[in-house]
Amino acid sequence: MPFSRRRLYALFASLGTAGGLASPALAQSRPTRPARRPPLPLVVLDPGHGGRDPGTIGARTGVHEKVITLAAAQELRRQLEGSGRCRVLLTRNRDIFIPLDERVAIARRRQAALFISLHADSAPGARGASVYTLNGNATDAMSAALARRENNADRAGGLNLPPVSPEVARILISLVQAETREGSDRLARMAVTSLGETVPLLPNTHRQAGFAVLKAPDIPSVLVEMGFLSDPRDEAALRRPDHRARVAAALSRGVQAYLAATPTATG
Ligand code: ZN
Repeated sequence: MPFSRRRLYALFASLGTAGGLASPALAQSRPTRPARRPPLPLVVLDPGHGGRDPGTIGARTGVHEKVITLAAAQELRRQLEGSGRCRVLLTRNRDIFIPLDERVAIARRRQAALFISLHADSAPGARGASVYTLNGNATDAMSAALARRENNADRAGGLNLPPVSPEVARILISLVQAETREGSDRLARMAVTSLGETVPLLPNTHRQAGFAVLKAPDIPSVLVEMGFLSDPRDEAALRRPDHRARVAAALSRGVQAYLAATPTATG
């Protein structure tokens, strides 16, 4: 029988509450709700940085990344909610510091269908948008350096794994992670396609690196670097509401394409 993310999720959740892989826990994991329309899938948007962590600083105007990411997330929320196809939650809706592991925990507590972290990068000579998925081995030196910078926002926290034996946890995690990785890659591909219709892209736009904020084992997650604040053209564009609305529209199209192609991604 093929694994569905929902089934694995139920199993995972039951282990979290029942504390073991005994058969009563498995029995409890069976869905007990009557067949009725499930709620719309929940998309968690994560505006990078915040509070005492400004993120990267704009080369020309000194704008803080944390301001750009929040404005972009609020615009994307408006557009996604307008589509009527999903619910949206922001990990922060104001200028506050939230540790990376807490951002992941918010999405997991609410059983999010998708997690999208929004950022703006900094690197000499680079410009354009890029989309990252999780991989322990970064695909190139720049991706590795970026992951280090983003992870240094605080120390990468551990996940709230259920109290089962390490062997059982490892097996479950690998099953769920395989599905999640597939979902993350699919979402990244769709986001890259729709972004490419709208804004300049970094070459090899879909990259992989060890971002702590992408480590939910059970929620397809991507990190979008909307552009480079070290590039004056990207910086000027990202400060403009109309440009952020175009980026948000592209991401909204990507999310909707993903949800349409993934009927199990319910909330
Ligand atoms: Zn960032």
